[in-house]
Amino acid sequence: MTTTDVPFCERYCVKPGTRVDLNGIDANEVGDFESKKQAKSALKHLREDLIKLQERFYAWDKRSLLIVLQATDTGGKDGTIEHVMQGTNPQGVEVTSFKVPTAEELAHDYLWRIHKAVPARRMIGIFNRSHYEDVLVVRVHDLVPESVWRKRYDEINAFEKLLVDSGATILKFYLHICKDEQARRLQARLHDPDKRWKFSKGDLKDRALWDDYQAAFTDAISLCSTAHAPWYVIPANHKWYRNYVIANILVETLKQLNPQFPEPEEGLDDIVIV
Ligand code: AMP
Ligand code: MG
Repeated sequence: MTTTDVPFCERYCVKPGTRVDLNGIDANEVGDFESKKQAKSALKHLREDLIKLQERFYAWDKRSLLIVLQATDTGGKDGTIEHVMQGTNPQGVEVTSFKVPTAEELAHDYLWRIHKAVPARRMIGIFNRSHYEDVLVVRVHDLVPESVWRKRYDEINAFEKLLVDSGATILKFYLHICKDEQARRLQARLHDPDKRWKFSKGDLKDRALWDDYQAAFTDAISLCSTAHAPWYVIPANHKWYRNYVIANILVETLKQLNPQFPEPEEGLDDIVIV
């Protein structure tokens, strides 16, 4: 049996109720691909399917799809959005990037800004960072006491259940890179004048807290991978493999939803446009 005999949806999904071992997952994995070129060509075909499915999903107007992207700095959240969603109709896709909360956001509960950004029916919403920051950066940097962030795993599960019960399908992707790969990517950002703008000295402070972040990611993924809103841990050292796997899971999820074009009005056959 080859590794690809197990659908990616199953292979990378963290089974609800289990504890993920991030150290035990090889960030370098490339499945059965023998070259980057092969994977890129496979991604191109998948994207054609994704584009057609999105068109139907939008017209169907029955459900929404929420994609949550989380990763360490340089993990590839921006690149995933750029390369996987390329060619989809922007009218049906909405990207929200969550930054340090504003004063207004901080004056509300932490889910307030998130709920406002949840995609409407027919839309694909992508969260570049999300409510999970409130159990990641917030936990690692002690921005609130443990008694506050501890409760958030249950709150998040209940919030996501509400969204799913209201017609959302939720996919959560953790882009798994190793610490050495992060060093290479940070170095590349410093070297490349076109990438320097992405470098923040704060990234180095967070890099020094790598183990604390891995512990926080482990808890977030383990405690919040549910049947209604699963977490997927995607090997992401190789960007082309990451893109392929995520596109594959999106296509499979949309196929399962089986969106249909709405029935046209009756009596259209006899109409002649003059
Ligand atoms: P970037 O995604 O590189 O533009 O950086 C956004 C920054 O906002 C990161 O350093 C995040 O950790 C930070 N951030 C996002 N959400 C929160 C939050 N809820 N509380 C504190 N910092 C956050
Ligand atoms: Mg950054």
